[in-house]
Amino acid sequence: MIDFITKTLSTTILDPRQGFSPKTIETEVRYDPLTGESGRLAHFGMIKPQKEDFSSWDTPENRSRCPFCSPNIDTVTPRFPPELLPGGHLHRGKTRVIPNIAPYDQYSALTIISPEHIVPLEKLTIPVLKEAFTAGLEFFHLVAEKDQEFPYHTIAWNYMPPSGGGLVHPHQQVIISDSPGNLYRKTMEKSRDYYRRYGKNYWKELCSTEKNREERFIGELDGSCWLTSFVPLGVLGEFWGIFPEINTIFDFDETTLEELANGLERLFQYFISAGIYSFNMGLFFAPAGEAEEYLSLHARIIPRTFLNLLQKPSDINALQLVLQEPFTVISPEAQCAELKAFW
Ligand SMILES: [Zn+2]
Repeated sequence: MIDFITKTLSTTILDPRQGFSPKTIETEVRYDPLTGESGRLAHFGMIKPQKEDFSSWDTPENRSRCPFCSPNIDTVTPRFPPELLPGGHLHRGKTRVIPNIAPYDQYSALTIISPEHIVPLEKLTIPVLKEAFTAGLEFFHLVAEKDQEFPYHTIAWNYMPPSGGGLVHPHQQVIISDSPGNLYRKTMEKSRDYYRRYGKNYWKELCSTEKNREERFIGELDGSCWLTSFVPLGVLGEFWGIFPEINTIFDFDETTLEELANGLERLFQYFISAGIYSFNMGLFFAPAGEAEEYLSLHARIIPRTFLNLLQKPSDINALQLVLQEPFTVISPEAQCAELKAFW
């Protein structure tokens, strides 16, 4: 019931690297088995992760200009109104949740993950990740007790400047909305269509199908499966952590938290070995109600890079923005094989 459809295009050039003899180059177009949206594998090997040493950014001058460093976080960041959260900020261990001064939505908060200005991937350990996600979930629950009008919960993360993150001090976006964005909406609608057509949860089917095929199945933990995406959204691929039996914020328990942090830490170990130091992430919860049947909790993690460190061009260009067509320069299947060593 899950089809992985591909189409190969080919073009011929006279190749200057081989005395202008004819050379045929192939591009693979793939179609997402849930949404039908296309993406392509092209430009193989032409983009490599660029590793930047950002420890040099951790200076007193940079910290003094950072709103999330102490003491600025208490003086220049906004506070929640007392009817929502007496005290203004939600504290959990070393993390705190604050309102976004430039909100995207009705409830648009930030989890400041650490008091440290720079937290390299090596230090995004399981305890650090658990504390951050726990703080975000506490905020979700806090709002859910007071306001049920906004059913969609997402945690988004821009880590380091290639991802579009404007501040290097690590922080996650904690968003509660009735307008959850195109990707979320399309994913939810297509999951519902699949459920109505086949009577099954697509996410459970995807995990078991990928496990049997052994092409993009990185590994599993007790309650989650981890995959490389068949149609990645990023030039350096995309990774999925799927929790088939978990749906809403109300199902997100200690085991789920532990596995989410554990899976991410393994992925980050791979990133470190591959020279990747920036990513976008989305963690998508189902809304309470009917969608619980067909939409499982899932995380999508997309590595990002500058194309080079001289001009620092973005890895998002007209293909992705104007044509709305993601392209990837690696093979998800080869990347999966590499990742298995970290599982
Ligand atoms: Zn800072």
